[in-house]
Amino acid sequence: MIPSVVLRPGKDKAVRNRHHWIFSGAVARLPEFEDGDILAVRDAGGGFLGFGYFNRRSSILGRMLTFDESPPENALAENIIRAAALRSRLLGDSTDAYRLVNGEGDGIPGLIVDRYGPVLVIQVSTLGTERLKPLILEILEREVGAETIWEKSNLPSRKEEGLPPFDGLLRGRPVEEIVIREKDLRFIVRPAASQKTGFYLDQRSNREMVRELARGRNVLNAFCYTGGFSVAALAGGAVSAASLDASAPAVELAGRNMTLNGLDRSKNALITGDAFDVLRNHPLDYDFFILDPPAFAKRKGEVIAACRGYKDLHRIVFKGCPPASLVLTFSCSYFVDEKLFRQVIFQAAGEAGRRVRICGRHRQSPDHPVNMFHPEGDYLKGLLLHVD
Ligand code: SAH
Repeated sequence: MIPSVVLRPGKDKAVRNRHHWIFSGAVARLPEFEDGDILAVRDAGGGFLGFGYFNRRSSILGRMLTFDESPPENALAENIIRAAALRSRLLGDSTDAYRLVNGEGDGIPGLIVDRYGPVLVIQVSTLGTERLKPLILEILEREVGAETIWEKSNLPSRKEEGLPPFDGLLRGRPVEEIVIREKDLRFIVRPAASQKTGFYLDQRSNREMVRELARGRNVLNAFCYTGGFSVAALAGGAVSAASLDASAPAVELAGRNMTLNGLDRSKNALITGDAFDVLRNHPLDYDFFILDPPAFAKRKGEVIAACRGYKDLHRIVFKGCPPASLVLTFSCSYFVDEKLFRQVIFQAAGEAGRRVRICGRHRQSPDHPVNMFHPEGDYLKGLLLHVD
């Protein structure tokens, strides 16, 4: 018999709505258990709600794995199979790189799995999922298949779970570099030596939009990482695309990604530097600006400082950009919601004395589904702006 956690009266609503997280304030009684154990979850009247794993060290005490009687191990396999089927329905064979499992969005808290052709890169963020890892690997090998499984779990948030960072090979042979395909474009991914799991898969649909908008434009891709937007813009007929990032290895890969796609590198600047400095101190003779900075607010307490950063960035661009410029701007900070992001941008426009209109609102690609009852998964906000 799996021991049970009992929730307080009235505190079972979120779980009934399939929200995966249980905070300590919702719990009336915990059984004896070891951190990372799977427990049954019951409402105050003893009614069964499902199974979840628990960790007293974490600010999120419990995370649900099932919302019915099915054994958690079976639910895990079913959720992975379902996640793979959804990707194949959404993407067909248009790409061989996608997010195969998106945590709570696919019913598996604490687990990200990205597919880069024959390589799977997994990210484990919780102790409960760490304990399930042998089973997860077995399911992935059986149901999905991979030549290599690499783990990229160097998240600072693992500390709170009592887990050290980990970055290494789990199965198969090590791979330094893979070439992935998005429609007719190719990108180099280096899973071991990379940010996130290697490539910003969440921006795929926005790369397509950039490709459609870029014809005849001079693009500045700030915070370019390995140049995904630059390649998309040039493939769409941009006159030029300059790529700017603080990371020298990322900028170097951006250059290699252009060559790989048969694009002429000579017209396209590769700039290593701080985006704020470069934008402030150089003439902005471009007419399509892409701004995709890292999350300025990684926790709630950083929201005010983050807004200052977003405002400075947009004011610099609005002040210097020529009339009729497009600005595609993103915030991937969950704590800065779309409303706040818009307010900050409008303040920046006011301070720069420019008229700015919103022409489009954009989100993460569909292989990053969000559980409707778990808004925390909805992190990426993009606005396409026209500066008159
Ligand atoms: N647009 C990219 C992803 C951007 S991730 C893509 O679609 O692939 C954010 C990037 O910002 C990282 O590559 C990081 O190196 C870079 N970065 C962080 N701080 C920066 C700064 N101050 N100036 C320039 N680049 C910065």
